[in-house]
Amino acid sequence: MPVVQSVIKGLIYLPSVKPESRHVAGASRSDSPAGVNPAVAYSRIAAPPADECAWCGHRFGGDDERRPGRIRCARCGVATTSPWPSDEQLSEAYAPWYRPTEGRFSGVGDAVLKRTRSALANRLQRVLPQGPILDVGAGDGTLIEAFRRHGRDAVGVDPYASGDNPHIRAVQLEDMNGGWSAVVFWHSLEHLRRPVRSLRHAAGLVVPGGVLVVAVPNARSLQARLFGDRWLALDLPRHLVHISPQALLSEIEAAGFQVERVSYLRGGQVLFGWLHGLVGRLPGHPDLYDTIRRSEARQAAQSPGFRLYALAAAAVALPFAAVGTAIEVATRSGGSIYVQARRLPDPETTRSASLR
Ligand SMILES: [Zn+2]
Repeated sequence: MPVVQSVIKGLIYLPSVKPESRHVAGASRSDSPAGVNPAVAYSRIAAPPADECAWCGHRFGGDDERRPGRIRCARCGVATTSPWPSDEQLSEAYAPWYRPTEGRFSGVGDAVLKRTRSALANRLQRVLPQGPILDVGAGDGTLIEAFRRHGRDAVGVDPYASGDNPHIRAVQLEDMNGGWSAVVFWHSLEHLRRPVRSLRHAAGLVVPGGVLVVAVPNARSLQARLFGDRWLALDLPRHLVHISPQALLSEIEAAGFQVERVSYLRGGQVLFGWLHGLVGRLPGHPDLYDTIRRSEARQAAQSPGFRLYALAAAAVALPFAAVGTAIEVATRSGGSIYVQARRLPDPETTRSASLR
């Protein structure tokens, strides 16, 4: 299994990177020292609580389930991040320390990420029809570049775009128009303030017969339930909604698409979600995702000894994480949801064709 090989390779090489000091750079990104429950820490920020579901617009009341840092809607089952962050608070969460131009991960991490994205582009470009591809939330453009290496016309949008990639536009999705053969939301829908509005806008950009691909964390997964406030993909406040497969699929179908494929593994982050969760259960609650990031891209400083402890724990946890992943895939409750759907022909076009 190549994923397991990459993880093992990463774990072998990561401890060899240079140690760094315990100094916490950027005070605002480390109100929560290592070990503190991140959801509880987030729930204390100075911002008003969410008053409505960011997915369906339902006004929150007594029936909705309140958890640290999020409220789960009684109507649609999607959870909304609460407190609801201001634009300034969100900008701070995406500040350059989060995505440094020189890469996010230490050791072979960035190389592994690049290879994973290339493999993803290889797979996707085989299923996407010919024509232009729009990548929503393109980030540093790794996926765009991988598509372009295949000779595909790929363009990205990302209001928080870093770097100067000429194929990424620093605009909102709603500013885009035209007809696209494919629109891809690769772990980006959960970052949007109005995800359903964005999904509907994207649906309108896809030409009939074109494809919509969405990958998001699965908030109803086994790992999400098991690891709760310390689940990898809670990622407050960058993840503003915590989506269920049912809510996502019904919205895609309502937008006039036929779902062709649903996978609970293809969206990635399933095995790593387990590793992160299992390691986070240990004394000191190591944050494995932070451990594998470059020192300057870390949420909180980690001493070399603590990093070694986290990495050794991850190596030991790997077989258990693999079992957890297998159970999630078998029970269709994996840590992420991948949906591939094709836009049906317009009813108008179909009718005029049948009348002819
Ligand atoms: Zn709702």
